[in-house]
Amino acid sequence: MPLRAKVASSVSRTAAALSRAAGRGDGSVIGGWIGLKIDPDLLAHLANGRAIALVSGTNGKTTTTRLTAAAVGVLGNVATNSFGANMPTGHTSALAKAGHTPYAVLEVDEHYLAQVIAATTPRVVALLNLSRDQLDRAKEVAMMADLWRTALANHPDILVVANADDPMVVYAAVASPRVTWFSAGQRWHDDSWVCPQCGAPIERQADQWWCVNCPLRRPMPQWTVEDDGVIDPRGAWHKVNLQIPGKVNVGNAATALAVAAQFGVRPTDAVGRLSTVTSVAGRYAQVMRDGRNIRLLLAKNPASWLEAFDMVDHAPTLLSINARDPDGLDTSWLFDVDFSPLRGRQVLITGDRAYDLAVRLEVNDVPFRHVLSFDEAVTSVPPGRLEVIANYTAFQDIRAELDRVN
Ligand SMILES: [Zn+2]
Repeated sequence: MPLRAKVASSVSRTAAALSRAAGRGDGSVIGGWIGLKIDPDLLAHLANGRAIALVSGTNGKTTTTRLTAAAVGVLGNVATNSFGANMPTGHTSALAKAGHTPYAVLEVDEHYLAQVIAATTPRVVALLNLSRDQLDRAKEVAMMADLWRTALANHPDILVVANADDPMVVYAAVASPRVTWFSAGQRWHDDSWVCPQCGAPIERQADQWWCVNCPLRRPMPQWTVEDDGVIDPRGAWHKVNLQIPGKVNVGNAATALAVAAQFGVRPTDAVGRLSTVTSVAGRYAQVMRDGRNIRLLLAKNPASWLEAFDMVDHAPTLLSINARDPDGLDTSWLFDVDFSPLRGRQVLITGDRAYDLAVRLEVNDVPFRHVLSFDEAVTSVPPGRLEVIANYTAFQDIRAELDRVN
């Protein structure tokens, strides 16, 4: 690396370490920010010489990045931004901290994908899904798909691994000549009723979808999910043993194996390593407190709430909603979520915007009780499982109460 980049990298690591020592979080944002101030090309310098995979999408990218890093780890050391700092500051910090590694797997905020592709020249880009998120500031879904499409068209050498079940992802990915398709299922359809290419309606039947007007339709996937396993492009089925719940995570495992295969990793060699992923920055963590087995699920937008309802046991459930800056300030998306799967269980609500949630549950005929604190929630339910579903800062608050559980 040039001298300036070496200095920037070293200062970046020091700043991150200082920030951690001061108890100000994991330091990955401030460290990267300072490093990039000293050398604006620092990310490119740190990426140079590494084989890199980027993972982007609205939901599941932190978990999929962790699973992919585990799978690619068959080949050697992998640098990764495992705590969800998914903008260029976080990438810079992660690579500086890791030192020299032959591989890197980086989670990328969907808005920054084009910029991070330009800086890191990745070998592989994985595209998971696109759905509405943070209504007050995120781009509309079709605009995101257009940005991705342009970025991929400008980099035809990238190996793209893309979700065949999401019309928005397919529209973006077909701009690339080198796509491997996976099917991980998609329950959320409310952001893709209209073709992003021509504006005509999209029809669906079983797994298939197609535009009624233009050629855009579901491509044939090479990687698919069957029961609790993944079928590879040769037709071999690999049982996936995960420590994290939900069908959606078997889909994320399929994506991880497909990305690793682009680096030459055989699924038989990688699949066992996926079970090393237990919880991801507190997501899916299980904690015992006062005889309650508390499980934490993060859900930030309608599509991820739908998946969370699929994962929870039939047990008392605490819902917590905030609307602070990282969450997005607009809570109207609560009305895009059908809460009826929660009927018939004990439902507790809390968080800064518990009353928004209360109105939504009232309209949805889901009985609930408001609690003022996490502790009150714990003592309000009988011993046994307590499911907790929370959005971003609400999740971090509860995680802090549980001593920053990982
Ligand atoms: Zn169309």
